[in-house]
Amino acid sequence: GPDVLTLGETMVALRGSGPLKLGGAMNVSVAGAESNVAIGLARLGHTVRWAGAVGDDEAGELVLRTLRAEGVDVTAATRDPAAPTGLILFEPRLPEVTRVHYYRAGSAGSRLSPDDVPAAFAAPRPPRVLHLTGITPALGPSARDACRHALRLAREHGTEVCLDVNFRSRLWSREEAAAELREWIPYVDVLIASDDELPLCLPENGPTDAPEKSLVDGGVREVVVKLGADGATAHTADAALHAPAREVRAVDAVGAGDAFVAGYLSALLDSTDVPTRLDRAVTTGAFAVASHGDWEGAPTRAELDLLGSGPGTVVR
Ligand code: ATP
Repeated sequence: GPDVLTLGETMVALRGSGPLKLGGAMNVSVAGAESNVAIGLARLGHTVRWAGAVGDDEAGELVLRTLRAEGVDVTAATRDPAAPTGLILFEPRLPEVTRVHYYRAGSAGSRLSPDDVPAAFAAPRPPRVLHLTGITPALGPSARDACRHALRLAREHGTEVCLDVNFRSRLWSREEAAAELREWIPYVDVLIASDDELPLCLPENGPTDAPEKSLVDGGVREVVVKLGADGATAHTADAALHAPAREVRAVDAVGAGDAFVAGYLSALLDSTDVPTRLDRAVTTGAFAVASHGDWEGAPTRAELDLLGSGPGTVVR
């Protein structure tokens, strides 16, 4: 079985260079939080399977071909003949502000079904880790049920579960997200979230102060909080650790969170301790921030050490 199984929606991504309404050239790529994580892990040498649905169209071929080229196993992915592959437009509007426009309602990916999930687990051995995000359950009832089914299968197979909350206000409300995600927490071993997303994971009507502690007390083994340019913290039953961000020139913040998750899970798969996991996570997060695109700049294992080289470094 693969080291990691992840499932979610991957879309065709078009990226312009200024205001969208002016037209002009766009760069064509693919984007999806879970497949960004999958690519990050594959670059670091892990075996990863991505499961999801694309349309039976050329956009879907682009998604599958790109993931395959990155060494991600797509044998469990499906083609939906009745819905198109989703689309996302990135509109860099100011150096610090990129607007995102989705064309994904009714997409093949949003119609992912629980029936698609068992094939993703089917292998000589089950995956070591299942990685989900809070985006997939926001896509619709069918995708939400697929995630729930994956959580149950993970429990049956003894597969560790990692959840990146990734709250998307364009897809659902905080109330809807909380109602779903708090039900997932008993299945979750590694919870990754931004500060403001932690409350979405807490039991209803429980205390809301010190959410990290109450989640750890509630049985989540590792609560990892992404703090942007301030780095990240990890809370376990034994310790609270902080890792500052790596210093880089930020060119594109999109994808930093996914790259961070890939680094964290990579070090976890290597059976390292929590400080080492955090260290690799802030390193891969910094690579994403310092590179254009969601996943294009993800480092290989040999490239991890490039960060921190002085300006003008030429590697010969
Ligand atoms: P996104 O959803 O845009 O991918 P996120 O909100 O999930 O991002 P962030 O907290 O912005 O995640 O970033 C994840 C990690 O990437 C941070 O914990 C940090 O380690 C790294 N990072 C983010 N911004 C910077 C930065 N400006 N410089 C260096 N590292 C950064």
